[in-house]
Amino acid sequence: MLIHLLTIHPPIVEGPLQESILGRAQDEGILDIRVVNIRDFALSKHQQTDDYPYGGGAGLVMKPEPVYGAVRWCQSRAPEGARPPRIILMDPQGKPFRQALAEEFSQEDHLILVCGRYEGFDERIRALATDEVSLGDYVLMGGELPALVMIEAVTRLIPGVLGDIESAVTESHTSGLLEGPQFTRPVEFEGMKVPAMLMSGNHGAVERWRRNEALRRTWERRPDLLEGAELSYEDRVFLAELKGEAPPPPPAGKRKRSR
Ligand code: SAH
Repeated sequence: MLIHLLTIHPPIVEGPLQESILGRAQDEGILDIRVVNIRDFALSKHQQTDDYPYGGGAGLVMKPEPVYGAVRWCQSRAPEGARPPRIILMDPQGKPFRQALAEEFSQEDHLILVCGRYEGFDERIRALATDEVSLGDYVLMGGELPALVMIEAVTRLIPGVLGDIESAVTESHTSGLLEGPQFTRPVEFEGMKVPAMLMSGNHGAVERWRRNEALRRTWERRPDLLEGAELSYEDRVFLAELKGEAPPPPPAGKRKRSR
């Protein structure tokens, strides 16, 4: 995957992109992340990328020409045979960024992420975008940190980026549930013990325990997520027990088999 990250402040993103898993994935050629300075596409001698808003008011607005110039340059650098890029504006007015959108973006060949600064974009810049994405209902100083967040969420879903693809599957939000508690050594720490089940060596029972703990955690912290989650009959039995409700009727298939 090729990712172009467009910003007027490359140093904000350059360090983090070189560290840890992202750095390694680029060294290994799984990812190609290019930081593009929007200022290089400014037309004026002073490389101005912002200007006063028509109609007056506080702050400065990002001018359209440098952003258009930078995006078109990135489009011309698309890998051969790549599908047309997703051109994504970081914007607090955009669609909320969620795991499902990360999964969608992870299937693409080419992403162009555009970071705003100041008071945001000249309205005509929106005409260039295929997507406008918000990290959440708060306002930051610029799109650089949102872009880094998106890059982490998207690229960890690309095969080969994480060492162990399994871990991306049981993760919170991927399965529609929050992940349950996890433990590592020591077996006892300040009086708190690792649940005996996890040391039982019974793989099937451990899996069921993990699934139940994920259900419990989701019900306690984010009951809203349960509505959209794919739940098996066993899951629904466990949830009913948690809530102190009557168990659900067995599914038709189960009834037949038990006869
Ligand atoms: N005046 C704008 C906010 C500008 S904030 C408004 O009221 O809508 C400046 C820039 O920071 C934005 O252009 C955007 O690129 C980035 N930004 C700020 N908050 C963000 C958020 N929640 N999600 C994504 N990008 C954000």
